[in-house]
Amino acid sequence: MTTTTQPHSHSHGDTPPVSKATPKLAVWKFASCDGCQLTLLNCEDELLAVAGAVDIAYFPEATRAVVEGPYDVSLVEGSVTTPEEVERIQHVREVSRTLITIGACATAGGIQALRNFGDVAEFRSIVYAHPEYLSTLARSTPIAAHVSVDFQLRGCPIDKRQLLEVLAASIQGRKPRIPSYSVCVECKRRGTVCVTVANGTPCLGPVTQAGCGALCPAFDRGCYGCFGPQDSPNTSSLADRLLLGGMSEAEVMRIYRTFNAASEPFRRESERHEPGLEEGAHS
Ligand code: SF4
Ligand code: SF4
Ligand code: SF4
Repeated sequence: MTTTTQPHSHSHGDTPPVSKATPKLAVWKFASCDGCQLTLLNCEDELLAVAGAVDIAYFPEATRAVVEGPYDVSLVEGSVTTPEEVERIQHVREVSRTLITIGACATAGGIQALRNFGDVAEFRSIVYAHPEYLSTLARSTPIAAHVSVDFQLRGCPIDKRQLLEVLAASIQGRKPRIPSYSVCVECKRRGTVCVTVANGTPCLGPVTQAGCGALCPAFDRGCYGCFGPQDSPNTSSLADRLLLGGMSEAEVMRIYRTFNAASEPFRRESERHEPGLEEGAHS
């Protein structure tokens, strides 16, 4: 499946044309915690402007009113984890002119992609009294593994300013101004003292995409990578630094295996540090 990083008009086969009136916005949920949808609802000051600029046509988290598609812009939260979701995402793509994935679940498979490293049947039988009633896939996959996606917005949860920028850009038909450099750049820009240099605190900032404003280092904490890999992350070099700083191989594996565990660069690096596992075994 192809994924581009810019919104553009789609000619998805038989996608019906969308009217020139107020753009219709739809918000869809797949396997997720709703935190990214809440980011939209939390835009207190801007929500009225958003509501004025778009027709919120489908947003079950916020309203029961449903306006029929097709939709100009669809925001998709969550990953694909069930056979039903595999079919539903095809429908969402068909009725959406521009499809934007929001958050680590939708863009990388989310924390639930930790299942990709284990045996789902075993988890199921341990956790549930009647696992036979569950219908689930062995792996949690990002939306772009199933349909073409026009823009991917990272974060767990996404950043409110970035969400508003992507929404505005898609309504205006321009490229969103979303940086792909690392959290370190934001850290330097706001004058935060580097927690690794100052205190030896492990930090994934060098390999993580900017967007949060280097939030964690500003509170004296290391970044744990919730925005996923930046454009060209040197994950192995950072792993070497973490090992030199006293982390064990298992700890390095775990630091790369959180919300974006299934993103290619983080997955590959975590496997390099998994005891007794050949690289690529979980791909
Ligand atoms: S990316 Fe994080 S905040 Fe957003 S839906 Fe997934 S778990 Fe929730
Ligand atoms: S604290 Fe982390 S994000 Fe900030 S400069 Fe240091 S390594 Fe980079
Ligand atoms: S510093 Fe890292 S972990 Fe913290 S919010 Fe930003 S990207 Fe997420």
